[in-house]
Amino acid sequence: MSEIEGGCNCGAVRYRLSSDPIAVAVCHCANCRRQSGSAFSVNVIVAGDAMSLSGDLTTYEDHDTESGQPVLRQFCATCGSPIRSLSAASPKVAIVKAGTADDPGRFTPAIHVWTSTALPWVEIPASLPQFPRNPR
Ligand SMILES: [Zn+2]
Ligand SMILES: [Zn+2]
Repeated sequence: MSEIEGGCNCGAVRYRLSSDPIAVAVCHCANCRRQSGSAFSVNVIVAGDAMSLSGDLTTYEDHDTESGQPVLRQFCATCGSPIRSLSAASPKVAIVKAGTADDPGRFTPAIHVWTSTALPWVEIPASLPQFPRNPR
């Protein structure tokens, strides 16, 4: 896969991923839903040190997590586009919001998590692994 770039609506935040994603996961948890304002979040999980970023992010420290460890939800300080999450429970990865990529169509989700709180009209392909909460 070639280099991945992306950014926010106003252009103040830009990022680059220098390695391929470890996983692409759809998350149906209520917190991702609220942050995205949509039915679910499409999360690109990459090695944290593979992400370089410019521009100002605002951080919301989300303590409403299954592990009890905080998730830092980071978004553009100007336009509010959600860019990534950093989880204290998984410190080596960055969880990038797929919709902010310049070419988001290249990310096909391979796993669905928090399906216990998925909205009733969402159809999850039967061929994909599903986890009612976070995978163990
Ligand atoms: Zn912005
Ligand atoms: Zn989530």
